Parts: sequence; C-alpha cells; structure tokens
Amino acid sequence: MPISSLHTLLRAYADLDTQHRYRIAPFLDADGQVQEDEEDAYEEALDEIKDQAVEFLRATMATLAELSEPPEGEPLTVHGTWRRRFSLTAGVIDDAALTAFSEGQCHALALAVAERTGWPLAAIVSDECCLDLDCCTLESVDQGVCPCRLEHVVAVAPDGSHVDITGAHAPGTIPDYEGRDSVAMTDALWDCIRRSPDWRPADLHAARAFVQPLLDSLGWLRGRYTLTA
Ligand SMILES: [Zn+2]
Repeated sequence: MPISSLHTLLRAYADLDTQHRYRIAPFLDADGQVQEDEEDAYEEALDEIKDQAVEFLRATMATLAELSEPPEGEPLTVHGTWRRRFSLTAGVIDDAALTAFSEGQCHALALAVAERTGWPLAAIVSDECCLDLDCCTLESVDQGVCPCRLEHVVAVAPDGSHVDITGAHAPGTIPDYEGRDSVAMTDALWDCIRRSPDWRPADLHAARAFVQPLLDSLGWLRGRYTLTA
C-alpha cells in the first residue's frame, strides 16, 4: 500500500475531527459540558457530525479496499441475500463463492470485473413488476425498469456475452435467468441498488479476489479481453 495514501487519509481525518470540535464548541462551557438551553442545538450539531463521520468512514474504507486485495487463500466472510453470511476463501471459486456472488454480491463481482477489464455492466431484469407496494415503488427507475425487476448484475464481454461468477453466457442463457432481458447499467439503476434495502452493500474488496480466477476460467475468452489495470 502506498504510504502517501495513508497520510492523505490521516490528514483528512485530522481536519474533519477539528471541524467537528469547532461545530460543537459554541454549545459547550469551559469544562466541555453542554450549556443549559443549548441541548437542542448541540444534538442537531451532533447528528450532522455523525452523518459526516459515517460518510467519511465509508469513503475511507473504500479507499483502503482499493489499496489492498485480500491475499489468495485468506478466509473472507461476505453478506448475501436474506442476511446470509458466506465463508469464502479468497481466489477460490467453490460452491460458497458461486452462491455468494449469485445471491447477494453479483453486483460487487460485476463491478470488480469492470474495474479490471473496462467492460460495461448490464442488469438482468424480470419480465414483469411484482405490482405490490411492499416489494416495489411501481415506478420506472430508468429504461422502464422498476426496482423489483432488477434481478442480477453482469459484466458484458467484448463479444457480448454476459459474465457472472458462473462464467460467460450468451445473453438470455445465464443459469436461473434463462430468457430474461437485460438493460445497460446506468447511474440511476446503481442509485436504486444502493438505496434499496433488498440489496447488500457491494463488497468490492472481497469480490476483487475472485476476478482473476474467474477471467482465467473463461478459457475461450483468454487473450481476447484487455486489462485496464
Ligand atoms: Zn416493480
């Protein structure tokens, strides 16, 4: 890991921490206790500080995750759909990895593949909306696709095949999604996935460990993809 990246993070934190002290200072007495009649303003400032701290933590973790890939063979726990946790081994595409990156972390794997190859991404969509406000907003997010129709995310190889953890497939032939349409991933669709309680946060750090073994397994594509990193 380049040490300069760590310095940048540490300086950013020192700055944020100081700004947070400044933000609450007007509501504290000389002893650091909240002044009477300033409780509401203090709580409001504290809420703001917490939001900024969470945002900073997420950004910091994303930066750290970019700087280090899990070493091959390292045990990893990743979160999938229905609050399931999967025990994976970095770089090993076994049954647990196939399930984790099919059920809950397909978008992380697709993002990691795109990062390495520069390939665009596509969403596999169900034919129809559930037509139920418990599972969908019933409104189009983009390209006529409502939130509940987003089922799977894949990378699109230069020959048009859809690549997920199970390999490369002609459009419409991904196992479990046979006959499904796909749409190009867009910022609007990503925003929808990030906001949706039905999608786990994309575990890019874990997914990066599986990209090379996956690309290596796509024998017929070997030599036909270009690495951007
Ligand atoms: Zn829907």
